[in-house]
Amino acid sequence: MADTRIRTPEEAVARIAYLSSDVVISVQPSLAADTEFSTTLKQLASRKEQSLVARSSDAIPEIQSVRHNADPLLSVFTPIRSGRLVSATTTSSILLPSVAHLYKLANLPVVIHVALSPKNFPDYSAITSIRNSGWTFLQSWSLQEAQDIALTAHALAIRSGKGVIHFFDPSSGAGAEAIEVANVDVVRAVLNLDNVRRFQSAPVSGSGIYADDGQVAVVSEQPEPLTRPSGVPEHATAEADVASPTITSQSSVKSSQQSTTSSPPSVSTATTIEASAPLVSSEDIFKYTTSIWDQLNQLVGRHYGAFEWTGSAKAENAVFLFGSDLALFYNAIAQAKSGDSFEGAGIIAPRLYRPWLGAKLIEALPKSVKKVAVLEQVSRKTTKYGPVLIDVLTSVKSAFGGVESIVGYQLGYVTKATIKQALDGVFQNLALEKPVQNLEVGEREVPQESAEYNLEKPKLEISYTKILDQLFGSRAYVANSLDSDNAGVSNTISATPEYGFGSLLARKEKRQKFISEVKEAAANGRFLTDVPKRALTKWLSGADDGKKAEQAAEEVISKLEVENSTVSKNLLKNKALFRKQSLWLVGSDAWAYDLGNSGVHQVLASGENVNMLIIDSTPYSERAAADANRRKKDIGLYAMNFGNAYVASTAVYSSYTQVLQAMDEADKFNGPSIVLAYLPYFGEHESPLTVLTETKKAVDLGYWPLYRWNPENENKGEPNFALDSERIKKELREFLDRDNQLTQMMRKDPQFSAILSEDFGTEIRAQQKRKAKDAYNQLLEGLFGAPLTILFGSDGGNAQSLAKRLGTRGRARGLKTTVMAMEDYPVEDLPTEENIVFITSTAGQGEFPVNGKPLWDAIKDSTELDLASVRYSVFGLGDSHYWPRKEDKVYYNKPGKDLDRVLANFGATRLADVGLGDDQDPDGYQTGYSEWEPKLWEALGVANVEGLPEEPAPITNEDIKLASNYLRGTIAEELLDTSTGAISAANSQLTKFHGTYMQDDRDIRDERKAQGLEPAYSFMIRCRLPGGISTPKQWIQMDDICNTLGNETMKLTTRQTFQFHGVVKGKLKAAMQAINRSLMTTIAACGDVNRNVMCSSLPSQSKYHREVFACSQKISDHLLPSTSAYHEIWLTDDNDKKVQVAGDAVQDFEPLYGPTYLPRKFKISIAIPPHNDVDVYAHDIGLIAIKGPDGHLLGFNLLAGGGMGTTHNNKKTYPQVGKSLGFVETSQVHIACEKVMLVQRDHGDRKDRKHARLKYTIDDMGVDVFRSKVEELWGQKFEPAKPYHFDSNVDTFGWIKDETGLNHFTFFIENGRIEDTADFQMKTGLREIAKVHKGEFRLTGNQHLILSNVADEDLPAMKKLMAQYKLDNLHFSGLRLSSSACVAFPTCGLAMAESERYLPVLITKLEKCLEENGLRQDSIVMRMTGCPNGCARPWLAEVAFVGKAFGAYNMYLGGGYHGQRLNKLYRSSIKEDEILVIMKGLLARYAKEREQGERFGDWTIRAGVIKATTEGRDFHDGVAEEDEEEEE
Ligand code: SF4
Repeated sequence: MADTRIRTPEEAVARIAYLSSDVVISVQPSLAADTEFSTTLKQLASRKEQSLVARSSDAIPEIQSVRHNADPLLSVFTPIRSGRLVSATTTSSILLPSVAHLYKLANLPVVIHVALSPKNFPDYSAITSIRNSGWTFLQSWSLQEAQDIALTAHALAIRSGKGVIHFFDPSSGAGAEAIEVANVDVVRAVLNLDNVRRFQSAPVSGSGIYADDGQVAVVSEQPEPLTRPSGVPEHATAEADVASPTITSQSSVKSSQQSTTSSPPSVSTATTIEASAPLVSSEDIFKYTTSIWDQLNQLVGRHYGAFEWTGSAKAENAVFLFGSDLALFYNAIAQAKSGDSFEGAGIIAPRLYRPWLGAKLIEALPKSVKKVAVLEQVSRKTTKYGPVLIDVLTSVKSAFGGVESIVGYQLGYVTKATIKQALDGVFQNLALEKPVQNLEVGEREVPQESAEYNLEKPKLEISYTKILDQLFGSRAYVANSLDSDNAGVSNTISATPEYGFGSLLARKEKRQKFISEVKEAAANGRFLTDVPKRALTKWLSGADDGKKAEQAAEEVISKLEVENSTVSKNLLKNKALFRKQSLWLVGSDAWAYDLGNSGVHQVLASGENVNMLIIDSTPYSERAAADANRRKKDIGLYAMNFGNAYVASTAVYSSYTQVLQAMDEADKFNGPSIVLAYLPYFGEHESPLTVLTETKKAVDLGYWPLYRWNPENENKGEPNFALDSERIKKELREFLDRDNQLTQMMRKDPQFSAILSEDFGTEIRAQQKRKAKDAYNQLLEGLFGAPLTILFGSDGGNAQSLAKRLGTRGRARGLKTTVMAMEDYPVEDLPTEENIVFITSTAGQGEFPVNGKPLWDAIKDSTELDLASVRYSVFGLGDSHYWPRKEDKVYYNKPGKDLDRVLANFGATRLADVGLGDDQDPDGYQTGYSEWEPKLWEALGVANVEGLPEEPAPITNEDIKLASNYLRGTIAEELLDTSTGAISAANSQLTKFHGTYMQDDRDIRDERKAQGLEPAYSFMIRCRLPGGISTPKQWIQMDDICNTLGNETMKLTTRQTFQFHGVVKGKLKAAMQAINRSLMTTIAACGDVNRNVMCSSLPSQSKYHREVFACSQKISDHLLPSTSAYHEIWLTDDNDKKVQVAGDAVQDFEPLYGPTYLPRKFKISIAIPPHNDVDVYAHDIGLIAIKGPDGHLLGFNLLAGGGMGTTHNNKKTYPQVGKSLGFVETSQVHIACEKVMLVQRDHGDRKDRKHARLKYTIDDMGVDVFRSKVEELWGQKFEPAKPYHFDSNVDTFGWIKDETGLNHFTFFIENGRIEDTADFQMKTGLREIAKVHKGEFRLTGNQHLILSNVADEDLPAMKKLMAQYKLDNLHFSGLRLSSSACVAFPTCGLAMAESERYLPVLITKLEKCLEENGLRQDSIVMRMTGCPNGCARPWLAEVAFVGKAFGAYNMYLGGGYHGQRLNKLYRSSIKEDEILVIMKGLLARYAKEREQGERFGDWTIRAGVIKATTEGRDFHDGVAEEDEEEEE
């Protein structure tokens, strides 16, 4: 049951606003960060509480959350004009920036509830500075008052038809007792629903907010004859009995008898005029208010007045308080001791602050009062006399009465402890014959609580300012930087462009002056020698050029310092000015709302050489505000239209290098520069992953294009515009078209034209749906038989292939079948279907798959669908064991079941009961399906059709390989097709053999689909790099490739090689050629062939390593495919006419592989004991190097049949460790490997790819039989295996000296990702190192990197570089150093959950617990993969997480520390919170219970947490959770 008591003023106010409005605008720091107001509003809305003013009886008010810096009051216009009552809840920080709207809204019954800020000591100048905006202002000082006055505000707005601002100090209720919620009947009575209805039924016309459409409030104390023109809303007449008989018909504000502002200025030139405003005088307002308070008094017994006096009726001294803590003053005066200067004084305070009713003040003030102290709580004074002092002076002085002296004070921070002292100060001064005006009382310094809206400069923004630092170092000057303390200037002011701009200009002037001084000194200065003069003259010649000035500065300064004359000393006082600063102004997208009047405009119009960095933080998914008025202006377009500015649009989470380039160009540009920087976030502590995905969507879809515009380029004959992303929005395209810039750019970069001419949008999507459906219908025309529409919702492809097969079978039975994705189906056609079948899989927590959701969303809440003439059936696919917890079992096949129920509810008739396919059934979903399908044919009357044709067998990988003409397929032709970024499915299989395959960016897949675009296809390219050794030159070449042809990052893989992502089709060939130019290749890096051969990196023994490494190369070369297709497709030049493509009879020959290659991938690795850093047990062939007594390589123990990949819930699949076949000599090792591979080639399962790896062949055949087959082919026998010992499978970080005296450093590269971020320029650093490194790089099997073979004399330079780029940092927890993750999202098509982007986050969350248990230094091998394919070899880790669904993982425990033992499933489908609880519990136990030297994996087994897996075939045995389930 809801709590009926209220504890904070915001809560009280929010509830009243909720009950009294149709729309509540909730102003928030960000949409993800709630305020006290918004929390209450949301709670009420979630309880579906109703508004008392809603027109229909069941309507709940609309809560619109708006960010505080996104011009929140703009949201008021549309609803209020359509006759909806609008209120807003906010802090005072938005008031001043919203002043233009306040004027326009004053004549509409809007209520704004303002919690004054800063929270612990509010600044009332936020109120006084808008006092003449024509609004009525009411204030409250306590929790109870907040509730009553909030209600008064709404009732008053409705009665007067005018805007009311209710303001209060939110801490005024602190510590007070909770109050009862206002009784709804009281609220209803006070609001007066008749008045409400009158307003709601007479919407206000007027539309453009830029028109002069508001008229100011009409308040007057000088009655004028009443002229009530026609058109005055009825309610004004209805209130005639209380209204003043006289009103003005013209705008005029009389704030006091000595009003200074009678008519607020017009905001823009008028084009349309709002309908006549209700004419209401200040007297009317007073009367309405008093009548509301009378009513309240009768109903609740509390009394309120326009001015409230507390104290003796005979008091001679009084305090007029305009501040927050009325009770504090009241109590202090009440407790005054005799003799206290303030004894017997009274306090008066304005509850109705505007309109200012001087006469009422006089009425409220006892006649005995002689002296009044006016206390104004303002932090910053802008005028000599406070505005309240002037109000009081003009009202009281001019009146009759005995007040002799009125003195103004600036009220500072006062507490219980200091109140007496403050009051003494006030009254002692007041008693003086000539009291001091404007005396400050109380503390100036206010204890700082964190400012509530400090999001204006969120922490994330630091990424951009950091880049400024990196680029310009000490030259960078940020006028309004985060940390700069602008003494005496409030944060709000210092964040404005105007303020920063002024300060930059002052800086520029100062430097100009300094240059003149230098000139003077160089010409006439009295130096001791001529040396300084020469240096100064040289400096002067380049003083305006950033770089030249920088270069000359050092010399000049040192010369002046040596000289030590008076002139030198004077110049040195400003020595920083010898450098030319890069002047920056940093601001937010809030500047984009009113460009014409903004500081942006000011900077552009000035033509000054200053740079603006404007950070836009609106997330892509929040971009589309329904209200067109709310849209931000495009600063980039505005600036480009201006003509004289450099403009760049950047996004650090999309392209780091483009940001660098833009900032550098902006700095060089001689004139104003604007760099727009995208950094979308929902809340202050946004995870970088969200920022990244939001950025990607925005950039990819052209909402936030990356570009640079340099008007100076024209002079060089180059296009002004450079597009750095691929898509641009319409407005930008139009701008460029106008200027012919686009044509110029396309001439230069022709690849853009195809993309730019594509269009997209939701209408297109709708049209596509219609077209697809019509095309089907056309196809079916002329066919006989009953129609059958089959719709599928499919994530993994199973539902789709079932649907297609059902379609084929239906056609064979003479039905007119249509098969399409649910999302492609125009839902309005549903009632016209005769027979319709749905096949849907289950996603996430029982949700529809992505392509099923739109249809489901469209029908689930529909109230209009009539499906009486439709016959239907549903088949669902799910996994009954997917959710381990009982309460989650409802998710099993939920979409199918839901759909079946809803269709029946709409009156449709079932053809067959819902069918449920379960992955756990013996044949998976086929079991359920084979029962369901016949029922469907039965119902359709086509069960017994004779002569059904045989169904063609599905095309398998084996067919594709066979038909490919030795891996050619039609790859070459498809590369030339620019109409799509994709290649066909068959060619996708074939390109794997060439080391590349197609992916799409899953972060933006759904968004692109929604926009009617094909997925963002790109290619992954994997190099072949036996043993993971690369030269420094190759490193630089790889770095170049990822920069220019890929996505600016590269991955060091778990198989010791380079991998690129994000290579688009058009750049694929260029990338392959570049890799080959660097003397690497990609052939057979993927595909059903022998892949990259791994080898322990072993930095400690270089000579021995060399011998073993040579074997890895030899094996790799020996097992390479021979097809010439690779060379033909990728390496021939475009003009080479001799290219052979499929169709020509190419006489290729594969002596080892044959035309169908291997049944599955084949992996070989070599470990050098005691290091198992390649996980030698995890590969098809694992070779363990054996050292002879002479210290040289003797040969290898050969293991066969290890492998990682499995399929969730398919017990026929399992990971396996390699089994020993015996020992083989060095000279024979490549031959032995070949023979193992050939036995697998001939005996591997080619029918079932899930059962095709060597591990299954050996397990099915038995090791001995397999060995004998190998020996038979080989003609030799394996010797017995030799003894060896492993002690770990992780890397050893830091420096090591090898036996030859060379040095090696192992870097920690988290999950192998080489990239630059604003915090860590790892990629740049490694490139710099590669430029000078004379040795080699070794990539490790754990995805780290070794700087190898550094001579002693090169060490210092190397160490310096490493330190400069923070590459020597190894201060990571043991857990992090031993962790490893595969790529997964966003590129891997198989990923079910995040991996590389998430594991580091998870580890961070565990590190505190490690610390607490003293485990920080302990190495625990933890691995994560996004799916059970197992690329990061998770099954051998001590603890592993394997993706099951987005955000959910299967957890495994008990792997061996040196990779010798497989782990076992511990928990299924657990999410982060459970993972953390489990891990923390286990780590704490491990720390306590472990024995000396006992490893985590071993402990979990000894402690009985998990059963040991002895080999792959018992991987599924004894899994804790399953046992439980069987007991059910
Ligand atoms: S383990 Fe799965 S998700 Fe991770 S990279 Fe490999 S295939 Fe992709």
